[in-house]
Amino acid sequence: ATPTALLAATGRGAGLGILVSGPQALEGLRRVDTVVLDKTGTLTTGSMTVTEVTARPGGFDRDAVLRLAAAAEAGSEHPVGLAIHASAVAVPPAESFTATAGVGVRAQVEGRLVEVVRPGAQPPEETGRGGSGESLPAATASNHDGEGPAGTRRPQPGAPGDEWLATALRRADDAGRTAVLVHIDGIPEAVIALGDTVRAGSYRAVDHLKRLGLRPVLATGDGEAPARAVAAELGITEVHARATPEDKAELVRTLREQGHRVAVIGDGVNDTAALAGADLGIAMGSGTDAAIGAADVTLVREDMSALADAVRLARRTSVTVR
Ligand code: ADP
Ligand code: MG
Repeated sequence: ATPTALLAATGRGAGLGILVSGPQALEGLRRVDTVVLDKTGTLTTGSMTVTEVTARPGGFDRDAVLRLAAAAEAGSEHPVGLAIHASAVAVPPAESFTATAGVGVRAQVEGRLVEVVRPGAQPPEETGRGGSGESLPAATASNHDGEGPAGTRRPQPGAPGDEWLATALRRADDAGRTAVLVHIDGIPEAVIALGDTVRAGSYRAVDHLKRLGLRPVLATGDGEAPARAVAAELGITEVHARATPEDKAELVRTLREQGHRVAVIGDGVNDTAALAGADLGIAMGSGTDAAIGAADVTLVREDMSALADAVRLARRTSVTVR
């Protein structure tokens, strides 16, 4: 393709609501055969709502635990964090906030260590440790040393008395909800279930991608149930749930090793490694700066059907110019 033709096509891309970083991005669009799609904030609106809060019997009451969780999430830009923060009132300030992509957040709130994390995830400060990926956050760094409202005994993970937790997680699963765990001073105190909505444009976008012969693959850090629910709704059969940011990048590497030309569409910090490792990285315009920075293409209007249009445009461009 001549530079002029590519530039003209790039200009038209902008008209479609697509910002491409350069001519090589158009070339990438033309050749892609597999599209790895993030779920939360990409296929879904990313505007989540808290649907249920289940507190540990004998522990904090629902409003108290939600308020602490909201405080810990105040610094988060993740859809889960935004929803939890928006669902509470009179949110106290938090200190020493840390967020870990694909895992969750931790902060000190009113002298307590509050963690809001993916069920089964390693807590933020424990991610470097080997061993089981299913361990619960360690109770550390608390000035109050596990002093809870229901006494000072620290329940062992998986000990009798944790049935409420399994039940709450199962209920969220059955409803296709995203579930996060709230730990206070190392004790699992609540399960928060959240609902998300598939973007109106996602149905058409997935349909168009398939018609263009592209293989859609859903990859998400979220659980199996919410991932399957969205995939089924959109007609995507290949699903990778509970994928860490590294898993997403590894999936892209594997697909490329199999000879595929892989595009990744994502919005979050958790997608940046996969975006950077793809033949073509595509960020949602509403996404985090990290995602946009790692991508070759940005979808300005958050309408994924623009991607199918862009692929069609890129293919047409190369045909016209040859
Ligand atoms: P996705 O791939 O669907 O965009 P992420 O990788 O960003 O999802 O997140 C995966 C999971 O990590 C979420 O479903 C949630 O359980 C947990 N998580 C991520 N960020 C947060 C946060 N700020 N607060 C609580 N949990 C979080
Ligand atoms: Mg996302």
